[in-house]
Amino acid sequence: MSAAAAPAESPPPPETPAVPVKPPAIEVRDLHRFFGSLKAVDGISFTVAPGQVVGFVGANGAGKTTTMRIIATLDYPNRGIVKVCGIDVVQYPALVRHRIGWMPDSFGTYDNMTVVEYLDFFARALGFKGEERAARVRDVMDFTDLTPLADRLINKLSKGMGQRLCLGRALIHDPDVLILDEPAAGLDPKARVELKHLIRILADDGKTVFISSHILSELGEMCDSLLFINRGRVIHHGSAESLKQTTGATTVVDVQTAGDPEKIGEWAQLSPHVTLKEARKRGARIEIDSVDPEVIAGVLRRMVNDGIPVIEFHREERKLEDAFIEILGEMEKGAPSPVQQPGVSVGT
Ligand code: ATP
Repeated sequence: MSAAAAPAESPPPPETPAVPVKPPAIEVRDLHRFFGSLKAVDGISFTVAPGQVVGFVGANGAGKTTTMRIIATLDYPNRGIVKVCGIDVVQYPALVRHRIGWMPDSFGTYDNMTVVEYLDFFARALGFKGEERAARVRDVMDFTDLTPLADRLINKLSKGMGQRLCLGRALIHDPDVLILDEPAAGLDPKARVELKHLIRILADDGKTVFISSHILSELGEMCDSLLFINRGRVIHHGSAESLKQTTGATTVVDVQTAGDPEKIGEWAQLSPHVTLKEARKRGARIEIDSVDPEVIAGVLRRMVNDGIPVIEFHREERKLEDAFIEILGEMEKGAPSPVQQPGVSVGT
């Protein structure tokens, strides 16, 4: 009698291929930078995921450039860890420099140098040789629309052209991460639109973009998230929309009337929840002390019932600037910011 066949062993489960986990494009942990007794950066932490566009916002002197310079290996922290694509900026600055493109807020003082010579100089410094170097310079001039200006002296460029040149310099080695310090500063509206367009193309191409600016409305449109700092500390992170929604206890409504606009002011004085913000030729801007839709609807209903011939009203969208100033105000008063989080994670 033959031995009973042993039950066939079930085949081992197929091995799950290990999915390589991409490190954050930028990781900043507990970063400190002091200049004497001045705490320029006072314990900042955040991460930026690969492919994200993150706006870095703060008042003058908040610590943006200091943070960016450390990420770009141009300065050392007193304390804390900074990594770019998983590489420590203090231990391996040369490796980091191959992964980042740094766009300073000016291109320095290089006299008697043309656009093509300037870009070639940086391509050479980055180690490109021969035809590859020439091709890199050509590509960058093409992308930034500087080819027609190749032989123009750089100190004769307009502000917008100069900013495109700075961006070109940052792109020479096709880096994964771009650090752009105030790229839109001093640009006219047309040049700002052009720059924004270039940044959008780079983001669509999968680059991580970390960009500082004072022009909040533009950053809101362009960025996946905003990172706000004040006095060397993170005070907010999140999307522009979340910022507009999480802050603010009042609603501003622009009302147009077919009657005497002064009537709205008189009505506002007698109405609960309402303050006149600004009298206008054909109406007024009023502030309602609530963001509750029921309260807002009630105020508008009452206005019509009280005989104001309203022909149009429009709830004003909250401006990022207002939201930012409000968070700052709350911080000054000592109240925690409504969106403040320690150990900030941006876009992860
Ligand atoms: P801005 O928007 O005006 O460029 P910022 O947010 O970039 O401001 P930082 O340039 O980082 O601010 O400066 C932060 C603080 O550190 C400021 O008070 C500045 O004066 C100071 N600071 C920056 N660099 C140095 C330095 N090398 N020596 C001394 N103080 C410095």
